[in-house]
Amino acid sequence: TDQALQQSVDELSMLQQLDRDLNATLDLNHILNITLDRMLAMCGGVSGVIVLLDEEDSPNQYVSRGYDRSFQAEPDMFNAGLIGRVVASKEPHVTGNVHEEPDYVVINFRTQSQITLPFINKQELIGVIAIESDQLDAFSPELTATAVRITNHAAIAIANAILYQKVNEANLAKSEFVSMVSHELKTPMTSMRGYTDLMLSGMTGELTEQQRKFLETIAANIRRMGRQISDLTDISRIETGRLHMVIEPTAVVQVVNETLQTVQPLCQEKNIRLNLELPEDLPPVLADKNRLVQVLTNLLSNACKYSPPDTETRLAFEEKLLPDENGVDKPMVLCTVADQGYGISEEDQKKLFAKFFRSEDANIRQSQGTGLGLSITKGIIELQGGAIWVESKLGQGTTFYFTIPAAHPV
Ligand code: ADP
Repeated sequence: TDQALQQSVDELSMLQQLDRDLNATLDLNHILNITLDRMLAMCGGVSGVIVLLDEEDSPNQYVSRGYDRSFQAEPDMFNAGLIGRVVASKEPHVTGNVHEEPDYVVINFRTQSQITLPFINKQELIGVIAIESDQLDAFSPELTATAVRITNHAAIAIANAILYQKVNEANLAKSEFVSMVSHELKTPMTSMRGYTDLMLSGMTGELTEQQRKFLETIAANIRRMGRQISDLTDISRIETGRLHMVIEPTAVVQVVNETLQTVQPLCQEKNIRLNLELPEDLPPVLADKNRLVQVLTNLLSNACKYSPPDTETRLAFEEKLLPDENGVDKPMVLCTVADQGYGISEEDQKKLFAKFFRSEDANIRQSQGTGLGLSITKGIIELQGGAIWVESKLGQGTTFYFTIPAAHPV
């Protein structure tokens, strides 16, 4: 009894360890490799393979161990042999002597016995594992029972990883679709903008006051559509890793000047005072200048949009030594954008950088927006090797901080 109990305890702790290892990742290949290695070690196998099946139960992917180097199977090959048999029956199969099996196909000439088990998740067959041994009758009923339990645990992890892979593929397909559509929209937009500008210039004939007003409304909306399209393009480029950046030493003062050209009129409209703290000895930063202008424009125009009139916004820069992901101190420039606006609730702060997020707050909804700006901003800052974070109190104001690597020496 003691021995049987000890065996159960050992098996349980082995399964626990396996679960921990499997749950630590969503990488399908890694999960398949862990499962195959554990099964080989547990059964004392000389070779083995895990084959995954598609929706039609056709083999579409495999990992293997212990076969001859020249073994390069086409997934189709697993339609036959003992694996094909388990795919058809969905039942475990154990043979003490493969040479007595009519279905057996030789891959490893040392193989004497084989265990072949289905991976079943929610009644669906998702794959099959085969472990081969160079001993006759290598798989006792106890060993088989443990192996079945391992495959049951692994099946869940494999199914999750497949799902994760599918979600990622769907996400990528969506990003590529958005990228294609936004690119296609650019040509008709350019034509619309061109003709509107031409008519507004008076070259196509005198305009009545009303015609001019209508055309100006059209032109303003075309500009807005253009901004939305370029936001969508940026987001899909960030997501697919195709955002092109030219990172070089850049003077912050130049970035600030360019940004203020667009932002100052917005501030003046609402009588928001902009206080700038830009130390003379601030080093240049390693950044893409136009993208940095985009980041600063987004943060400052948000500060204006989401603040009541007659308030102040502070824009400050300072050099700081900050630890990188390896804990090594790096010279960075820290930028602070602090407003006295409507603020962001703690609940909203958690979702702030997600795509399309906009607060439900009525004050916020008064201003137009797509909810893409901060998500793009975060993407650009991280691609430049910096970080962004926020501190905010509802009704009191919001402070965004972001960092950019300093360019040392110039
Ligand atoms: P948009 O401004 O187009 O809505 P953003 O991605 O720039 O998109 O911002 C997302 C949301 O974050 C805003 O809709 C608002 O709810 C909140 N937000 C951003 N900046 C501020 C700020 N300075 N003060 C208060 N809320 C802000």
